[in-house]
Order: sequence, then structure tokens, then C-alpha cells
Amino acid sequence: MRWILLGAPGSGKGTQADLLKEKYGVAHISTGDILRRNLKDKTGLGLEAEGYMNKGALVPDELVVRMVSERLRERDVEKGFLLDGFPRTIQQAEALDVILSEIRQSLDGVLLFEIDEEALIRRLSNRRTCSSCGKIWNLLTIESPQSACPACGGELYQREDDTESVIRNRLKVYHEQTAPLIAWYEEKGILREIDASMSPAETFLEIEAALA
Ligand code: AMP
Repeated sequence: MRWILLGAPGSGKGTQADLLKEKYGVAHISTGDILRRNLKDKTGLGLEAEGYMNKGALVPDELVVRMVSERLRERDVEKGFLLDGFPRTIQQAEALDVILSEIRQSLDGVLLFEIDEEALIRRLSNRRTCSSCGKIWNLLTIESPQSACPACGGELYQREDDTESVIRNRLKVYHEQTAPLIAWYEEKGILREIDASMSPAETFLEIEAALA
């Protein structure tokens, strides 16, 4: 299983990647998660990326391509991978083709997560992550108390780039720089559209049908 999960921020790529990883044991490669980890650990890469991430802008292609190139050469990737949040530009997609030919792998396809913009903003502004187990939750769908993770009781926090003004910028960046990838992969005949407006469980069923 070697798929790209493509879609706007908040369309549910991370949630579905977690479910797919759990079921199929493939590597979940989220460039956003790798960058946030670097930011937290104050690495050189994290410090370079911080300014872009806080504004909701894209981190330069060169940095993310290097990061993904290293990650795709790790052992666990042999069982398959899900790329979540990469590629985000045509240049990154071209670089990915080169990396995949170097490691003698090919893509099975691209899942496009489709959902309207108002729903995205609602989801993103209510999104919380558990500081302990890393699970992603939505305040609109979990029971109270809302400050605790329903899975492990850990403390929930809001991502710094999930505030309204940064969200709007991230969506603008998605339309301008990432959406051109839809036509790019459509032309290659490997794009599968997923209705991402439903519940995680329903979306997962649709994805499984698309993978089959
Ligand atoms: P995400 O968690 O995928 O929404 O990513 C959070 C932030 O990390 C984005 O708003 C970008 O600043 C940065 N980022 C993640 N993936 C990429 C990428 N493929 N190219 C450039 N920047 C990225």
C-alpha cells in the first residue's frame, strides 16, 4: 500500500492515516508532524521552519523534500506508506517521482479528500490534539470534559496554526499551491476522490472501497 493523501488542511487526512496505519501496519509519513517534532526539539530544521509554519505558509520545498527523502529510505517503509501533507507543490511531486524511482517503489495512487470550506474552518477551529497519545479530536464531537483526551485522559491542546487568521491563510495557500496537484495526478489517472465530509468511520469505509 503506497498512497498519497491529498486534501486541504482539516479534511481528515491525519485521522484516516492513523486508522489505515492501525489496520494495515504501513508507515504514516506526515510532514507536518515531522516538522512539529523538530520545532518542539528546537533542531536546526525546526528553527528554519518555524516562521513559515506559524504564518501558515509552506516551508521551502528543498527542506521538506530532503526530509521526505530520508524518511522514505527507512526500514518500516518497505511494508508500504501513506504520505500525509506531502507533496504540497508540483515541484515536490516531481521530486517525489525521483525519490521513488531511486528506491524502486511506485505509487498505488492518490486519495483526494473532498469537503467544503466552511466545514473545514469549523473542523480546524475545533480541532484538538492529545499531548500524551497524539490522537486528534474535534470538540464538536467529544463528550465533556473537553480538556481531557477521551482515549487516555491526556491534556488536549490546540495547534498554534489552528487559529482563524492562520487557518484562512493555510486554505489560501492550499488553493494556490497545492490544488494544482489534483489535475496533475488526474492526468496520470491515479486520483481517487473521497467524500471527506462524513464521520471518520464512514470516510474510512469509503477509503477501503477505493483501495480495493
Ligand atoms: P500540516 O500538519 O500538514 O497541516 O502541516 C503544518 C504546516 O507544516 C504547514 O502549514 C506548513 O507550514 C508545513 N508543511 C507541512 N508539510 C509541508 C510540505 N509538504 N511542504 C511545505 N510545508 C509543509
